[in-house]
Amino acid sequence: MAQEKNLFKLIPKVDEVLEKDRIIELLNSMPRKIVVDSIREEIEILREDIKKGSINEEEVKERNRQLVELIIDRAHRKNSYKLRRVINGTGVVIHTNIGRSLISEEVMDNVKEIAINYSNLEYDLEKGERGSRYSHLEDIVSEITGGEDAMVVNNNAAAVLLVLSTIAKGREVIVSRGELIEIGGSFRIPEVMEQSGAILKAVGTTNKTHLWDYENAINENTAALLKVHTSNYRILGFTSSISSEELKTLKDKYDIPLIEDLGSGVLIDLSKFGLEYEPTVQDSIKKGVDIVTFSGDKLLGGPQAGIIVGKKKYIDAMKKNPLTRAFRVDKFTISALEATLRLYLDEKVAIEKIPTLNMLSMGLDKLEKKAKTLYNLLIDKIDLDKCKVEIVDDYSEVGGGSLPLERMPTKCIRLSLDGVSINGLEKALREYEIPIITRVYKDNIYIDLRTIREREFPIVVDGVLYGLKRIERVH
Ligand SMILES: *Cc1c(COP(=O)(O)O)cnc(C)c1O
Repeated sequence: MAQEKNLFKLIPKVDEVLEKDRIIELLNSMPRKIVVDSIREEIEILREDIKKGSINEEEVKERNRQLVELIIDRAHRKNSYKLRRVINGTGVVIHTNIGRSLISEEVMDNVKEIAINYSNLEYDLEKGERGSRYSHLEDIVSEITGGEDAMVVNNNAAAVLLVLSTIAKGREVIVSRGELIEIGGSFRIPEVMEQSGAILKAVGTTNKTHLWDYENAINENTAALLKVHTSNYRILGFTSSISSEELKTLKDKYDIPLIEDLGSGVLIDLSKFGLEYEPTVQDSIKKGVDIVTFSGDKLLGGPQAGIIVGKKKYIDAMKKNPLTRAFRVDKFTISALEATLRLYLDEKVAIEKIPTLNMLSMGLDKLEKKAKTLYNLLIDKIDLDKCKVEIVDDYSEVGGGSLPLERMPTKCIRLSLDGVSINGLEKALREYEIPIITRVYKDNIYIDLRTIREREFPIVVDGVLYGLKRIERVH
């Protein structure tokens, strides 16, 4: 008991801590309340540990020496935004959990211009009267995809719902059982169909659907044929499915619209980068699909959006659907999408300037060069006795439920600790001021160079230094 009392005496007072130089410095950069709360909380943790009897006098003194550091850490965490940037070291290019596609600075300049000024969002400058917010995107989407008309909503899930609700409410939509997909985040074709008021008419089997399956299901209550891109999985082996070209023959024979949910909505041929061929939006339009829907922030590399392209008469009907108002995109999305799509007018420019395409098309020579640069920066600063640093071969993924089987050869920095579990370092990196998200495999940390930009290297180096320091502290 007497021993315990002595230990409590070692705990500093809040006021004493507030006078330390580094804390005074901290007070200049953030609200006093955050600093004081952080001091109180760290002191409380120490008090609790003494109360539990889990630390001895030596350890209390050691903790006191680390106290300022711990307070600064805590205060920075408290003072940061809840939604903030992270470094993507996972190598998953379109990672839904960490923001899918990145917007280039050039595109963002346009968004800023629109955001900080008034704009002709819904104003027709020629006529001097009310205009449509969708008009800004119609021409560019049509020009790039070959579709007659276009409109844009908040995401592809909304796009599919709007299309079905407009074209097929109360009537049947024929879909292959092999295409009744679920995308992460509870987007499931049967449920979306139900929400839209359309009646799902599933045909064929999981692995095989024939043209006559569709044809036999057509009746006077059929509103549309729907083809869904099985973005995030593949059925292999004894399979067959019907292409949009084949469905077009039915569509023409019975005069019913053909809808396609393309999911990712790629606009350029990815096989040029050595990736699997993914059907483009232009392909679908050329094959005669009446309405195509796809995401803005998957392979297209733009902002979150759902793009609907196709026959004008259907698009016009959608604009009159009350759901359109609920799904309507804001001016930031429109300006980001317009600027991104403009880059597609020259494919070379698109690949260079759209981060998603740039990362997907990055060759091994470039990746190796980046790996060497980061490696040299790391070994210059890190104590190599404590942490082993290597350049290794690995694979990156496309992500975003696109091209699920694709493995792109890449270069990674691999970190390992001698005799210490890597999980502490992974957590420390994840909790760094600018969190660094990495992959752990067999007690190694992998940092994939494909998804890290060169200007982010100093952050990675500082983060690793911070992480190594943090795992050395007693806790
Ligand atoms: C991703 C995806 C969706 C949902 O798109 P969001 O833009 O995320 O709403 C719908 N259908 C398919 C086939 C998809 O791949």
